[in-house]
Amino acid sequence: MTTIKVGVFGASGRVGKLLIEDLKNTQGMGLSSVYVRNSLDFAIDPSVLVTSDMHSFIGASDIIIDFSLPEACEALLEEAIKTPKPLVIGTTGLNTHQLNLLKQASELMPVLYATNMSLGVALLNKLVHQASAALEGFDIEIVEMHHRHKKDAPSGTALTLAESAANGRNLDLDKVRVSGRDGNIGERTKDEIAVMALRGGDIVGRHTVGFYNDGEFIELNHTATSRNTFSKGALRAGKWLSDKEPGLYSISDCLEL
Ligand code: NAD
Repeated sequence: MTTIKVGVFGASGRVGKLLIEDLKNTQGMGLSSVYVRNSLDFAIDPSVLVTSDMHSFIGASDIIIDFSLPEACEALLEEAIKTPKPLVIGTTGLNTHQLNLLKQASELMPVLYATNMSLGVALLNKLVHQASAALEGFDIEIVEMHHRHKKDAPSGTALTLAESAANGRNLDLDKVRVSGRDGNIGERTKDEIAVMALRGGDIVGRHTVGFYNDGEFIELNHTATSRNTFSKGALRAGKWLSDKEPGLYSISDCLEL
């Protein structure tokens, strides 16, 4: 069996380090290169290419997995457009320009973009879509909690869940209020969704989508208790993506949900 050579972008980050560890126990895949801005602060197998040259980094890998920052992801996409390789993008908080770049890249190479690589959240998105459609008239509110170091708020996962809820009842995505409520917005309207973000401690990730009505409510909750959920999910996605045609894929495509 041939081994898929994996390049890790964002290698010294919380998820990047786990990708490197998990790759050691992943059949059919091996770490071939890591991109670093300066140097790595941990030991790595000497056969792995450690480089600050994006072109060499991409060239040494069959697929690239990215968990970095939006600006870094943008630079990766720009380089990948010149040297297409299957890309698994896990970075969240991408702006409109960066999302357009991602779409442009997906015309030249297979790109799997997922704001959450876990099986549980993939299923949660389906359930939220279904509940939103079925529970007509229920108010929808989303609360997410993450560790104190998370840079973007609300989380990419919360925004994707809001999108699933909006799609479930054909709501305008502009009605998604991303900052929660400030007490000055007047009475809640029926067709809005608010997303609230809490930050503290070492919480890996918790998302609750609530459907509230007079007399009853339902809350759908997902809690990630380990970041390995994301690294293992990204490796599973990478393996699946490695032989795909160019296109933009979701985690649901990979999991056949
Ligand atoms: P982190 O801050 O620990 O790591 C970020 C990494 O990006 C570091 O290795 C850093 O060196 C690197 N980096 C920063 N600027 C760079 C640049 N200009 N060029 C190259 N590399 C650069 O963050 P994290 O917790 O590992 O999360 C990374 C990203 O993944 C975030 O956007 C986070 O929201 C997202 N995330 C996604 C999922 C998912 O399932 N899709 C899960 C967890 C986190």
